[in-house]
Amino acid sequence: MLSRNALLYLSRREGLKDFATRFSLFKKMTTRFVAGEDIEEATAAIREINAKGATASFDHLNESVANAAETAEEVREYLNILARIEETGIKSNVSIKLTQFGLEIDPELAYRNARAIVEDAHRRGNFVRVDMEGSSVTQLTIDVFKRLRAEFGVNDVGIVLQSYLRRTYDDAQDLLKLPARIRICKGAYNEGPEVAFPDKKDVDENYVRVMKLLLESGTYHGIATHDPNMINATIRHMREQGISQDAFEFQMLYGVRRDLQEKLAQDGYNMRVYVPYGKHWYPYFMRRLAERPANIWFIMKNLFKG
Ligand SMILES: Cc1cc2nc3c(=O)[nH]c(=O)nc-3n(C[C@H](O)[C@H](O)[C@H](O)COP(=O)(O)OP(=O)(O)OC[C@H]3O[C@@H](n4cnc5c(N)ncnc54)[C@H](O)[C@@H]3O)c2cc1C
Repeated sequence: MLSRNALLYLSRREGLKDFATRFSLFKKMTTRFVAGEDIEEATAAIREINAKGATASFDHLNESVANAAETAEEVREYLNILARIEETGIKSNVSIKLTQFGLEIDPELAYRNARAIVEDAHRRGNFVRVDMEGSSVTQLTIDVFKRLRAEFGVNDVGIVLQSYLRRTYDDAQDLLKLPARIRICKGAYNEGPEVAFPDKKDVDENYVRVMKLLLESGTYHGIATHDPNMINATIRHMREQGISQDAFEFQMLYGVRRDLQEKLAQDGYNMRVYVPYGKHWYPYFMRRLAERPANIWFIMKNLFKG
């Protein structure tokens, strides 16, 4: 637990990136979780994913925007991605983080920026997923999402909820009334016990409760996890309730459990892979390391081999 917290702390110190990348092992580990630094590399990765029967979601990494001009650059990047998807015919939608569009500078700015992306996606028949970030912006994220959803359709824009948050079951019930397409995941940030369940058992139990609510809602949702217990619970519930296999999609992260990604796609499940790319990969990468003790151990063991 201490190592996880330490890595999550380090994930917020982007200055360490230059130091860390001096180690070739670190670079090698990066390419496992991040599809590259530019759109070309990410497009090539998505072609490979599509060839294996899965769809994708582009994520341009940049959690360090500091002003309105930088958020405008992020909007340009996403408009470029949406155009690229249409030109190349690759099967992908996009995932956005509202802080990248200025949520912590001015929620109105984030709304306007996100709106420009959703409008373009709508015009092109594509879909925008609003990722969920730390609990300090949960309500702001939901508020902006609801404004977007009021203007655009259920198949234009969706949101993410995290099962580690105590509020999530209520949020899911509320958002389903719109209705809204929801991605349920466990949650990747460092949260205190006042807002999040400290025990993994409770996080998992809440995940299954929310998953059942989503599957029974009749709207198309994303079940995002690499945990075989969550996947099996989903398949079991689908069968018990006579829910069709194509009524939802499984989602996993680039580079994590590729074997399981391929197996589920081969078994006929809709499978979407989240494909992050960009120069600012450091915080995302550190969160992935924090998720699995074996990743940390691997780094420790190899750090000084160069
Ligand atoms: C498509 C997608 C989108 C996401 N979007 C968000 C978001 O918007 N907001 C947010 O807070 N979080 C997001 N997450 C991250 C999520 O919250 C979890 O942190 C992450 O998925 C790990 O949880 P898990 O369900 O895989 O279960 P865990 O219990 O953490 O892991 C189960 C098993 O999966 C494997 N595994 C999991 N993570 C790794 C890893 N990094 N490296 C190697 N093996 C691993 C291991 O075998 C592990 O035992 C997203 C995850 C996915 C898959």
